[in-house]
Amino acid sequence: MSGRPLLNRGLDGLGTTIFAEMSALATATGAINLGQGFPDTDGPAEIAEAAVRAIREGKGNQYPPGPGIPELRTAVAEHQRRFYGLSYDPETEILVTAGATEAIAAALLALLEPGDEVIAFEPFYDSYAACIAMAGAKRVPLTLRAPSFRPDLDALRAAVTPHTRLLLLNSPHNPTGMVLTRDELAAIAELAVERDLLVVTDEVYEHLVYDDAEHIPLVSFPGMRERTVSISSAGKTFSFTGWKVGWVTGSPELVAAVRTTKQFLTYVASGPFQYAAAEALRLPDSYFAAFRDDLLAKRDLLADGLATAGFRVYRPQGTYFITTDIADLGEKDALTFCRALPERSGVVAVPNSVFYDDPDAGRTQVRFAFCKRESVLEEAVTRLKRLAV
Ligand code: PMP
Ligand code: GLN
Repeated sequence: MSGRPLLNRGLDGLGTTIFAEMSALATATGAINLGQGFPDTDGPAEIAEAAVRAIREGKGNQYPPGPGIPELRTAVAEHQRRFYGLSYDPETEILVTAGATEAIAAALLALLEPGDEVIAFEPFYDSYAACIAMAGAKRVPLTLRAPSFRPDLDALRAAVTPHTRLLLLNSPHNPTGMVLTRDELAAIAELAVERDLLVVTDEVYEHLVYDDAEHIPLVSFPGMRERTVSISSAGKTFSFTGWKVGWVTGSPELVAAVRTTKQFLTYVASGPFQYAAAEALRLPDSYFAAFRDDLLAKRDLLADGLATAGFRVYRPQGTYFITTDIADLGEKDALTFCRALPERSGVVAVPNSVFYDDPDAGRTQVRFAFCKRESVLEEAVTRLKRLAV
């Protein structure tokens, strides 16, 4: 064997994801897991029943159509029209994927070539860096800084070079909870048109927005329809993260490109769950409102509790994560802190520092998930309060 490492050197340093590491730590120690983002209660019972029914009725047990079952593509089209007034042709403009994760991979592998530059907000959701590397492209971070984590639009403009192929955007943003405003989106759209850039938008937290924040798809701005690949999934909105049903919406040309790579990644996935996701997307508005209200109360419970426990809290406008700063607790390094936290206080969190290229930008930032039962959040806060004493 040559001395060359087995892992593609472009993926050097990616190792095990932080979510897997921290969830394994939670399992090993029995600590409360506020690390990896998944709810501790399942989504609506009637949607779970729809999946069971699909299996029993033999729907989706064999390979469904590559682009996704027509029922789900139609339901996605209806959802985009109901919430955003956007119209998509289910035949040519919608593609079902194995979660948003596969959609991101397929989009980046389809649209990028070696040498292309991709601008993305850092802290990055971890699969972005991996998929950009797998495509042989180069990531160019645009750092979101505390306390507001708003993007610096002048810096964004300055980051565009003749090699820039694509903007990879995430709003509502994991892990900071920042939600792009209408003005920011308009400015980004203008820049994309002016510099002829493609845009991939990760909108998996589209229904998890609070206070005055509003989720507006970037594709709804002038000139964006032909250059935007929009991605979402059922995992967050319907609290079934294990089902891995996601989708891509875009022009027929963009969807055809993404379909080409997607068919060689999984071909298809989640057969019976696609039927259930179609039903979920058709739930009444009251479902979406109640889901948001429930999470809003949990956000405030955990944010207030963390502040009482001595954390500096950046209250999020979206997602189900709270980014905090541990410097006020006398802590210097988020990764070290998170690795020790289960032993010290019986709680698992995620260090945002691993989502930055800039080692200093997030060194003392730690993320907590609040998509958990209130009693669990209360117990976590009680435990974390002991840290300060
Ligand atoms: N993008 C972001 C920003 C996420 O937080 C997640 C969370 N899992 C995903 C994509 C992946 O979504 P899915 O589980 O549907 O693959
Ligand atoms: N999106 C989830 C989070 O941010 C994790 C998903 C995963 O483990 N890949 O916590």
